[in-house]
Amino acid sequence: MQSLDDFARAKLEALEARSLKRTLRPTRRLDGVWVEREGRRLLSFSCNDYLNLSHHPAVKAAAQRAVETYGAGAAASRLVTGDHPLMAELEARLARFKGTEAACVFGSGYAANTGIIPTFVGEGDLVLVDELAHACIWTGARLSGARVLTFRHNDVAHLAELLSQARAASRRALVATDGVFSMDGDLAPLDALSEVCRRHDAWLLNDDAHGLGTLAGGRGSVAMFAGADVPLQMGTLSKALGSFGGYVCASAPVIELIKTRARPLVYATGLPPASAAAALAALEIVEADPELCERPLAKARAFAGLAELPPPQSPIVPVVLGSAEAALAAQQRLEVEGFLVVAIRPPTVPAGAARLRLAFTAAHPDAEVERLAGLVASLIRESRP
Ligand SMILES: *Cc1c(COP(=O)(O)O)cnc(C)c1O
Repeated sequence: MQSLDDFARAKLEALEARSLKRTLRPTRRLDGVWVEREGRRLLSFSCNDYLNLSHHPAVKAAAQRAVETYGAGAAASRLVTGDHPLMAELEARLARFKGTEAACVFGSGYAANTGIIPTFVGEGDLVLVDELAHACIWTGARLSGARVLTFRHNDVAHLAELLSQARAASRRALVATDGVFSMDGDLAPLDALSEVCRRHDAWLLNDDAHGLGTLAGGRGSVAMFAGADVPLQMGTLSKALGSFGGYVCASAPVIELIKTRARPLVYATGLPPASAAAALAALEIVEADPELCERPLAKARAFAGLAELPPPQSPIVPVVLGSAEAALAAQQRLEVEGFLVVAIRPPTVPAGAARLRLAFTAAHPDAEVERLAGLVASLIRESRP
C-alpha cells in the first residue's frame, strides 16, 4: 500500500532528524558479560543478566533437559493445555521466596503488567503511577480504562495529595511503581508508599524487575524496607534469573482472580517449559547464594566511586548527558574502547535526559570496571559547558 509506506517513511525521517530512530543491531552474547557485535568482542554493561545466570551451566542444563523431555513450546494457553506442571512448581517456589500465599507466571514481565492492572481496576476507578515508571505499567494503566494520574517521581506527599483529592470519587484505586527504577537505578520508598496506600485504601503494585536477585541478598526491593506492605509484587524471570517470563506474587484470592481474568494469561500461549525450568534452576542459585546477589551492587558502587558519581542504590548507574546526540556519541566512544554501553534516549527517558545506562553484573572484571570509570569520568568532564 502506497499510503502505508509513505506514512512509515515520513515518520522514520522525522525520527532520524531528531536522532531518535532506533535500529536493531545483531549482537551475539558469548557468556554472561562478553558480546560480539560486527566481529568485535565487547564487554557489555547493557545486559540485565545481573548474576550472569543466562549462561550458568546448571541453568542451561535445566533448559536443555526440559526441551528434550517436554518439547520446545507450550502449545496452548495455560488455561487450555499449556499449564505444564513446571509452572506450578515455579509459582510455589516464587511465592515461598517472596513470602506470599501464591504466585502467577506470565509470558513476560511486560505482559504481566498489562494483565494485572486491568484485572483490578477499570472504568470508575483510579490508577496512580510514578512519572518514571516502566512503559508496561503505563500500558496496563491505560488499557484498564481507569482514570490515570501521575505522581512526581518518588514524591510520597504528592501521591497523598492526589489520593486526598481523587480517591473518594473512585470505587477502587491502585498505585503502581517500579521498585528499582529501570533507567535511574534508584529505589521507590516502599514503606512510605505502602503507608499512604493503607490510609487511602489503595492497592500498591511494585514492579521488581531489577530488584529480584540484586537487593537484600536477592530477595528484592520490598525486603529493603521494614514495614513495607505490598499486596501486588510483580517481577520478571528475564533479568537476574537469566531466563524469560514474568510473575506476580500475592495472596491466594488475588492470584486466583488473575488466573481467571488477566488477558495475557487467558489469551496467550503459556511460557515454554524450558523457560520455567531455567528460572527454577536460577532461583535455586539465588536462594543458596546471597553473597553472589550482593556482587552487582558492589561493582556498581566501586565504579561510581572511581567515576565520582553519587553512590548507587542498585546495580544500575545512569550517566545523564542531555541530548540524544551526546549520548549516542558517548556510546560510540566507549564502543571504540571495547565497551558496550547503549545510549538511552527519549521517550524511554524524559526529553533532555538522554544518558548512558550502565548495568553491573557479578562477573564484570574489576580491572575493566576501573578502565571504564576513567573513560566515563572524562566523558562527564567534557560534557560540562
Ligand atoms: C524489563 C522490565 C519489564 C519487562 O519485563 P520483561 O520480562 O522483559 O518483559 C517490566 N518492568 C520493568 C521495570 C523492567 O525494567
